[in-house]
Amino acid sequence: MERIEIVLEIKDLWVSVDGKSILKGLNLKVPTGEIHALMGPNGSGKSTLTHVIAGDPDYQVDGGDILVEVDAQARSLLDLAPEQRARMGVFLSYQYPPEISGVMNREFLKASFHAICKDQGIALMDDEAFEEYLQEIMGKLDLEPGFLNRELNVDFSGGEKKRNEILQLAVLSPRLALLDEVDSGLDIDGLKVVAAKLRSLHDGQRSFLVVTHYNRFLHYMAPHKVHVMMDGQIIRSGTQELAERIEADGYEYIK
Ligand code: ADP
Ligand code: MG
Repeated sequence: MERIEIVLEIKDLWVSVDGKSILKGLNLKVPTGEIHALMGPNGSGKSTLTHVIAGDPDYQVDGGDILVEVDAQARSLLDLAPEQRARMGVFLSYQYPPEISGVMNREFLKASFHAICKDQGIALMDDEAFEEYLQEIMGKLDLEPGFLNRELNVDFSGGEKKRNEILQLAVLSPRLALLDEVDSGLDIDGLKVVAAKLRSLHDGQRSFLVVTHYNRFLHYMAPHKVHVMMDGQIIRSGTQELAERIEADGYEYIK
């Protein structure tokens, strides 16, 4: 797929749910081709941030802006529907991936992939070509072919749901991937495998925002920057050293 540059820039973002303020003037910039990590205590608003970027209507934006730069032109995401954002190349992996019965994994991937291609003016693949593309990715990710014939996330184990998110990421090849605790519920080997696969999917053309609690995971992901969120704001940004300090001393060290 051909890529266009995309830079995410969040400016003074205020967000509430049911009248309760959650994000309180958040600023963040993720340049093209970079991996940024987002850490922070439970309830600080990390998942909220990823959902708001993807356009989840449960969250109310009270102020500020979410801009993406496409072809050197800044454009607000706020007036775009979630599916328009997805077709532009914004991908959200859920902390808790929803189960969608009646929708087969293969069909879901095909429909999503085609919608994105259409929107981005990329030539559509016929069924045979898509199947080939899919099989190549399945092979790279060491996934069983049967994985495609299951209903989306239905009766998937925690680990399978995470692997399925990585499959979606690989197939859809988004410009901006928001990965919310893709490492949760994995054992140490699983963590290593998932991080290595994610890292292999990253190239200089796309950006990852990775929410995690684990320095070990970041060790494998090698992010360009680490941000710490507390009470709806980013209160500290730095290098991986910051994640190491947090692991050693807890979030208390930053306060
Ligand atoms: P984190 O991912 O950092 O643990 P969240 O973004 O999930 O934090 O939550 C931040 C705060 O917003 C919490 O107090 C949580 O209860 C609240 N919150 C998040 N989503 C919703 C929602 N859909 N409805 C009500 N409250 C929510
Ligand atoms: Mg969360």
